[in-house]
Amino acid sequence: MKNVKCCKCVRCGKEYPAAPDITTCECGGILDVIYDYEYIKTKISKESLAQCGDPTMWRYRAMLPIEEDTVPQGLRVGGSPIYEADNIARNLGIKKLYIKDDGINPTSSLKDRASAMAVTKAVEAGYRTIACSSTGNAASSLAGNAAKAGLKTYIFVPDRAPKGKIAQLMMFGANLTAVRGTYEETFELSKKAIDKYGWYNRNAAINPYLSEGKKTVAHEILEQLDFETPDYVAVSVGDGCTIAGVYKGLYDMYMAGLTDKIPRLISVQAEGCCPINTAVITGEPWTPQEENTYADSIAVGVPRNADKAIKAIIDSDGICVNVSDDEIRAAQRYLAKNAGVFGEPAGVTAAAGLIKLSREGKLDKDATIVSIVTGNGLKDIESAIQNCGAPVSCGNDLEEFEEKFGLA
Ligand SMILES: *Cc1c(COP(=O)(O)O)cnc(C)c1O
Ligand SMILES: [Zn+2]
Repeated sequence: MKNVKCCKCVRCGKEYPAAPDITTCECGGILDVIYDYEYIKTKISKESLAQCGDPTMWRYRAMLPIEEDTVPQGLRVGGSPIYEADNIARNLGIKKLYIKDDGINPTSSLKDRASAMAVTKAVEAGYRTIACSSTGNAASSLAGNAAKAGLKTYIFVPDRAPKGKIAQLMMFGANLTAVRGTYEETFELSKKAIDKYGWYNRNAAINPYLSEGKKTVAHEILEQLDFETPDYVAVSVGDGCTIAGVYKGLYDMYMAGLTDKIPRLISVQAEGCCPINTAVITGEPWTPQEENTYADSIAVGVPRNADKAIKAIIDSDGICVNVSDDEIRAAQRYLAKNAGVFGEPAGVTAAAGLIKLSREGKLDKDATIVSIVTGNGLKDIESAIQNCGAPVSCGNDLEEFEEKFGLA
């Protein structure tokens, strides 16, 4: 790869050649993909992007860690819409708010960006089987993208995973294990199996290429905003790969000379599970926490990508905010009703944090803010119905109808 220099340990600094199946450093640290931005500048520009006919995440392949002759695998990922949420901005007293809806990806979450990268790297490396553990979305997106790429999957989810995600996994033909235990225990079982059988590893953070796929959401946001850099980008945080990926994408665009500043990240976690925010706020190393939140996709007590996520938040002069499950539920209804975007609980956690910060007057009034919705609400309809309530029941009777809606 001419655009990649190496993979470098974020803990000890040791450098490794960027093999397609590389995982962690011998010291146990996670790796970051290091690019040659001088080379990248010769391959990508505002003009080349304007002329690029590919609407998917691969339009940014000049900044992605794949060989120049590699054919991208998987589904049609990326190119998700960004909406101006003027009603909400007015309501909250924010100058400009955009909602980036990544729930419209093929398997309905931002995880598709990482999974398309994972199956592409697995095929590049000659693997036939790929495995991961996940709270649900990484799993279902891997299963879908692997089905398209013709790879076999072994997938591990905690048995609390919502039925919508399980349905996707079974439909896509995954060899699915629902682990009786926490996400941490799920991860441990997947690790034992992957170590023993030598499958391609799509575990969050362990595989340094996953964040590199996720970062395309940030490339896209900047291009969709005509390279006018927003002041803040709000992200829901679990393992920390998404927020680290968002930072990397913003950093790429800055280093490639396509934008002139890096926005401040807003890292949003659930009060019941916030190890990354706690570490940033206290300045102490992160410590494991329980997984007490109904935002299942970010119920991650032992975050695997904490080192990169914490660095991303600090380097961007970011803000950390934790929200309660009630605040997440309220944000889910609010975003759906006022912007037409129906996110799953973790998908709207970023918006919940941003609503909270703006009501507390902690955001600059003149700011332009982007809030990323990371997953679609249809993934978990049971919790959604509990949140928004049941419809009005009515017989074939106009009077009854009028009475129920107070129209008469
Ligand atoms: C995975 C996920 C997140 C968080 O991403 P991490 O990399 O785990 O921090 C947020 N929202 C949704 C819907 C997700 O599936
Ligand atoms: Zn190391």
